[in-house]
Amino acid sequence: MSRLLFLFAVIIVVYLLLRSYRRQSPRQDAPASAEEMVRCVKCGVHLPKSESILAGGNFYCSDEHRREHTSK
Ligand SMILES: [Zn+2]
Repeated sequence: MSRLLFLFAVIIVVYLLLRSYRRQSPRQDAPASAEEMVRCVKCGVHLPKSESILAGGNFYCSDEHRREHTSK
């Protein structure tokens, strides 16, 4: 009888773990798809599009990298 209760407890724990895992996974994907990421052509760092500097069709992480890249 105690073995049956143990088995029942294991099934409940597995069920709760699977349910919480399934509930968390869409939330983890949300920040990545929330804003488009662009890559700095100078140093290769990824940053949100709104924080990047666009010049000549290229994205830069900072104004310094934009100047360094365009001066060459
Ligand atoms: Zn950069």
